[in-house]
Amino acid sequence: MKVIIIGAGPAGLSCAHELSKSGVETELFEATEFVGGMSRSFDLWGQRVDLGPHRFFSKEKRINHFFAEVLEGEYTTVNRLTRIYYKNRFFQYPLKFSNVLLNLNPFTIIRILWDYLIQRINPIKNPTTFEAWVTNRFGNKLYEIFFKSYSEKLWGIPCSKIDADWAAQRIKTLSLIGAVWSAIKGNAGNKHKTLVDEFSYPKHGTGLLYEKCAQQIQNNGGTIHLNAPVKRVLINESNRTQGIELADGTRVDADFVISTMPLTTLIKGIENVPTEIKNAASQLYFRNTILVYLEVDGIDLFKDNWIYVHSPDVKHGRITNFRNWCPTLYGNKKTSILCLEFWAFEEDDVWSMPDENLAKVAISELEKLKLVPSSMGILNSKVIKIPKCYPVYETGYQKPLKMLENYADCIDQLIPIGRYGSFKYNNQDHSILMGLLAAENILGNNSTNLWEINTDTEYQEEGEIKDILNQ
Ligand SMILES: Cc1cc2nc3c(=O)[nH]c(=O)nc-3n(C[C@H](O)[C@H](O)[C@H](O)COP(=O)(O)OP(=O)(O)OC[C@H]3O[C@@H](n4cnc5c(N)ncnc54)[C@H](O)[C@@H]3O)c2cc1C
Repeated sequence: MKVIIIGAGPAGLSCAHELSKSGVETELFEATEFVGGMSRSFDLWGQRVDLGPHRFFSKEKRINHFFAEVLEGEYTTVNRLTRIYYKNRFFQYPLKFSNVLLNLNPFTIIRILWDYLIQRINPIKNPTTFEAWVTNRFGNKLYEIFFKSYSEKLWGIPCSKIDADWAAQRIKTLSLIGAVWSAIKGNAGNKHKTLVDEFSYPKHGTGLLYEKCAQQIQNNGGTIHLNAPVKRVLINESNRTQGIELADGTRVDADFVISTMPLTTLIKGIENVPTEIKNAASQLYFRNTILVYLEVDGIDLFKDNWIYVHSPDVKHGRITNFRNWCPTLYGNKKTSILCLEFWAFEEDDVWSMPDENLAKVAISELEKLKLVPSSMGILNSKVIKIPKCYPVYETGYQKPLKMLENYADCIDQLIPIGRYGSFKYNNQDHSILMGLLAAENILGNNSTNLWEINTDTEYQEEGEIKDILNQ
């Protein structure tokens, strides 16, 4: 049996790792010169950085086992501090009532409490949009302050058009009773560290996991081709997968094809796709990310691993400070690398803006926020653009997505997985799980419906770190 895998991100690599370990002939084709996909790490100005912040966390035993097995001990524990920056003040994230109340003026607090109580007494039934979902749980005022501007920067569409699915998976709800209870318990209620407080992290960046994984696949006899973009998947008259065609025209046969290339591109590339399926694929779209890295001449900037920037008067939405992850990233360097995230659609001016202009925008926004002392200069800048970063869950997206899922299911031996590969807002852990389960399906040990992964997940971070790592 021979399996072809398209894409060397977490989904493709975890699948290839599992298959090659079981002795299956595995050939992986990656479009770029790197492994790791959006989770790769790279050297920058003598330090190591990721593509924005990459915190690994999961409560799923097999994912944590994969992480520990592949890294062979080369990981550490990072203390987590991530706050929201709004109107020159820091707010804890996930939100805590006590912290919110201490940081705002009395009028705003009364409005927050009033809106929260009204919403608890009279909730919106079956909220289907992000706006309705968040308002239901937090009240209108908290929604306006802490969710609206950030989410609209990220998605580029009004919150009333974002599907509630995204909120349910990503947002920890807020409990007034919980806040009162922790205030009564004080420190006694806070002695166990959870996945909110700390996380495991590969010592040389999140991409180390995937570099080691790629090496182990090759040690197991698998093949990885870099700079080998796949143009399309080949299907025969009986609707069975035959193999792939590369961008240079080369054809390679296989018994199974696992695809982590964008689902929409995969489907549109298949020969004789029905028009309604092509139309459905055209209704799904992605949001791009622009990362602007700045090297700051100093080391004590702010304590957070990353900060969510809610202020509507700046365009970026998040700043990572790699100095606050682990010392193996920066060694003996005496500078800090920050990464500012901007989001854009392809047609937006900012997406085609030259790198030097983007760097100027980033520097001026950083000055505006006053997060970096003016005495510290900016030594270097670098811009990286990531297309198709976020599958946009615009209300109504499920219908065209379901059509693509059903169509792909009718093609034998073709398995789409991954973040843009299955149009699911995956973190690394979800993509790894998809990869491992796809391999199990092929090996005949399982018959999991892979479309179901990361669809019904509720926010879950309360596990204690010691239990998670000892699984
Ligand atoms: C700024 C940012 C912050 C993030 N923060 C976190 C975080 O804190 N925690 C977390 O767990 N996750 C985080 N993520 C998400 C994480 O990066 C992704 O979930 C993960 O990389 C998805 O893995 P994947 O294999 O599904 O897709 P990808 O990583 O996108 O990999 C897909 C691979 O397929 C290749 N490919 C595409 N088309 C073709 C083709 N035609 N032929 C051959 N190869 C092709 C691509 O080049 C790529 O290497 C973040 C992502 C970003 C961008």
